[in-house]
Amino acid sequence: MKERLIFEQSKEGRRAVSLPKNGILPEDMDTLIPGQYRRKEPAALPEVSELDIVRHFTRLSQLNYSVDTEMYPLGSCTMKYNPKVNEAIAASGKWAQLHPLQPEETVPGMLRLMHEMQRILCVLCGMDNICLHPAAGAHGELLGLLLIRAYYKSKGQKRTRVIVPDSSHGTNPSSAHLAGFEVITVPSDKNGEIDLKALENRLDDSIAAMMITNPNTLGIFETRITKISDMLHQRDILLYGDGANMNALLGRFRPGDLGFDVIHLNLHKTFSTPHGGGGPGSGPVLVKKALEPFLPVPVIDIKDTRYCLSYDRPQSIGKIHSFYGNMGVIIKAYCYLKALGREGLRKASSLAVLNANYLKEKLKKYYFLPYDRVCMHEFVLSCRDNRAMDIAKRLLDYGFHAPTTYFPLIVPEALMIEPTETESKDMLDSFAEVMKKIKDEDPAIKRTAPHNLPVSRMDEVNAARNPDLKWR
Ligand SMILES: *Cc1c(COP(=O)(O)O)cnc(C)c1O
Repeated sequence: MKERLIFEQSKEGRRAVSLPKNGILPEDMDTLIPGQYRRKEPAALPEVSELDIVRHFTRLSQLNYSVDTEMYPLGSCTMKYNPKVNEAIAASGKWAQLHPLQPEETVPGMLRLMHEMQRILCVLCGMDNICLHPAAGAHGELLGLLLIRAYYKSKGQKRTRVIVPDSSHGTNPSSAHLAGFEVITVPSDKNGEIDLKALENRLDDSIAAMMITNPNTLGIFETRITKISDMLHQRDILLYGDGANMNALLGRFRPGDLGFDVIHLNLHKTFSTPHGGGGPGSGPVLVKKALEPFLPVPVIDIKDTRYCLSYDRPQSIGKIHSFYGNMGVIIKAYCYLKALGREGLRKASSLAVLNANYLKEKLKKYYFLPYDRVCMHEFVLSCRDNRAMDIAKRLLDYGFHAPTTYFPLIVPEALMIEPTETESKDMLDSFAEVMKKIKDEDPAIKRTAPHNLPVSRMDEVNAARNPDLKWR
């Protein structure tokens, strides 16, 4: 199905609604809206009926891939089902109609929710304090690194470098760079974990922090994490945890207990709020006591049993976001946490790990599994006889969203698969069946896939270099 643009469906004079005359006299217009702000020509809007509009947008909505329609095994993105009750609560007038400029005393409920959310996340992660402001994981990383910079500055130490493993998410080196640090890479060993010897060689007094993702982006748990944490702390180097993917650990493992000094979470992954397509996110940053004084303002305090916002933080790095963060996302994640409770979270994490291992064991018969060991919430295949891109595109023809491709960078032709806990065994079996079928298909069919979608294989390089975004 090819859907024409709404502009292409326009017919002169066609209208969706007819409004009564507004009763404003032409001579009054100047006082209402001064001439310089008014259009000289009518806006170039499509002229369509209400039915045209309804059908156009309904058809467009049916072209979408979404968690609500298909399995979405997009590794590192944790595309789990988002319970609708959370949406309903966040959208209810009680929350949605609050305004961030309202006086504090009119929003005690919101302040209490934020305060409780902070406490729950601190307990869950074994950390001392938290900032809910960042709007994404990468934004949280930037904040975490700015806190680390402020910490060393306050101690009068000049530390200019940050270590990241070669398996890290691309945002890690980018955030470190943006925060003014020089980035140093440490390789992975043959088991997919951080190479300790190489790490030892890189440690000196110029290092401010090391950023670690655990489980790492291969879906493997860094088993020597406490040893690494000790190696760093002996030299007064801080340990940053990329906690974007906490789905394997919920209710089981507290990063704070293993020596992490700063971590960020992605509420829009692990805590089941919708994301993708550039939608809103939330990347809270949790810290140990030593970094607390530098947290952004305002922080939520309790004064005479009332919640309030405090700006009195002389060592604060200032603001990282307007107001208090993406509250809609935070409310949904809060509902998710409350609904599941500790036992529910433990069950979610065990099913996430079970689903990933089940699928891994099925698929390793057909695809090369470079790190063949028990995985956590996801695993990474290497398409030796096929191009990862071709497999990914062909999956679309069978109604599955593609896995993450070409990441992590240390695996050639990588397919990174994360089924999440919300898929059933039947669905995992269907996915494995389709993957098996695709493997043996005619390469020519794969190379030109997808064939059953409105848009077939794109010239991705051309699309990125010369984007054509405008209707003419
Ligand atoms: C998604 C992700 C990030 C970045 O989070 P955004 O919200 O996309 O900025 C960082 N690290 C890892 C491991 C991730 O999976």
